[in-house]
Amino acid sequence: MTGTLPQQTLHVVGAGMAGLACAVAAARGGWRVALHEAAPQAGGRCRSFRCDRLDRMIDNGTHLMLGANRHALAFATAIGGHETLEAVAPLFPFLDLASGRQWVLSPGKLTSGVWETVAAMGLPWVPAGQSVAGRLGGKRSFAALWQPLCEAMLNTQAEDASAKLFGCVLRELLMGGKTAMRPFIAQGGLSAAFAAPAIATLGSYGAQVNFRRRLVAVGDRSLEFDDGTIALGPHDRVVLALPPWAASELLPGLPPMPTRAIVNAHYRLNHPAELPGGQRFLGLIGGMAQWLFVRDDVASVTISAADRLLDMSTDDLAATLWRDVAALLGADPARLPPCRVIKERRATLAHTPEVVENRPGPATKIPFLWLAGDWMASPWPCTIEAAIASGLTAARLAIGRDDLSFA
Ligand SMILES: Cc1cc2nc3c(=O)[nH]c(=O)nc-3n(C[C@H](O)[C@H](O)[C@H](O)COP(=O)(O)OP(=O)(O)OC[C@H]3O[C@@H](n4cnc5c(N)ncnc54)[C@H](O)[C@@H]3O)c2cc1C
Repeated sequence: MTGTLPQQTLHVVGAGMAGLACAVAAARGGWRVALHEAAPQAGGRCRSFRCDRLDRMIDNGTHLMLGANRHALAFATAIGGHETLEAVAPLFPFLDLASGRQWVLSPGKLTSGVWETVAAMGLPWVPAGQSVAGRLGGKRSFAALWQPLCEAMLNTQAEDASAKLFGCVLRELLMGGKTAMRPFIAQGGLSAAFAAPAIATLGSYGAQVNFRRRLVAVGDRSLEFDDGTIALGPHDRVVLALPPWAASELLPGLPPMPTRAIVNAHYRLNHPAELPGGQRFLGLIGGMAQWLFVRDDVASVTISAADRLLDMSTDDLAATLWRDVAALLGADPARLPPCRVIKERRATLAHTPEVVENRPGPATKIPFLWLAGDWMASPWPCTIEAAIASGLTAARLAIGRDDLSFA
């Protein structure tokens, strides 16, 4: 870049992971950036908030990242949030709540036979439209391995989930070994790792950040918000970093993108939450709870592909999940501690073969406007990684700088 600042502005709409990554990349590339977000805070589906019931900061849902998520980790490093991400040993302990059986997955030790693993990795090829259950349903390790991994990675039941995408993610993890499979946990909360340092970084570049500003229409050369209209200059560019349902309302013609829910229950214990063996998390089968995470005195349960639970009351969910996990935490199953249940109804796409094939790219029919978000076509399911990589791609395209990176 030359010493003079360009006069064009990049307007980024949506301050989730995709929008934050796009805005930071463009600001680092020397552009003037304006970020517009409908909510009162940044982070979107990956955010922390103070829960009065627990009297603690909690995340909307516990998020796990892996060493393979190189865009997400590079972004965290670029904005200074990486120090709050704790790298833990690449071991995935499991417990069958029904039988009491325990086992540990680790790089090179997946508890399945070689040919089964090769098939799960999508090798040598996956027929069009094949589901994970269609490919692996008859295999020995289906219930204890492939099914829980599929729901955790794709947030979609194995009967519906794309075997092709599942294979793609497994290949990246298994071929990357320990480094790729190492889990990272936002020890200080998601916002401390991403949203807060990203907003601070944008501030240091003089970017304008507007909360509580919802985009309601895209005009010929204008953006119409619920609090006024911004006329775009001839060289201004726009990136819509919105979830698929919000983008579809503004840009008719996008393919339908059905979603799946995730339910989280956070319990505040009256002692530091500890798991057997000092583990930070535990995979569960044979009950309703699927993953149990601990952080300080808060224990958090996650259930993926949880649409079937959306009609259940939060009180019933809290009590049922507590019965699954209380004993593991050394607590009394009959005494429910303060609890907060969060139902994220549209947590990610339903990663069916059809949806995965139909995911759009960042270009639109509008020459000054690009899309970003975890639902863009990519080798990944909807994750922090997919969102951040899409934000970087959109920034590169919008400002014409394919050398932008977070390295
Ligand atoms: C409970 C839960 C658990 C998850 N677990 C994991 C995990 O373990 N690992 C992982 O990698 N990923 C996980 N994910 C997925 C991850 O959170 C998402 O993939 C990622 O946060 C999506 O980011 P995004 O920027 O694409 O979209 P969003 O986060 O949806 O951001 C879009 C932003 O646009 C704003 N917006 C919407 N409409 C408008 C409008 N009209 N005008 C202005 N602003 C608007 C929204 O308020 C939002 O802030 C999980 C998600 C959930 C919900």
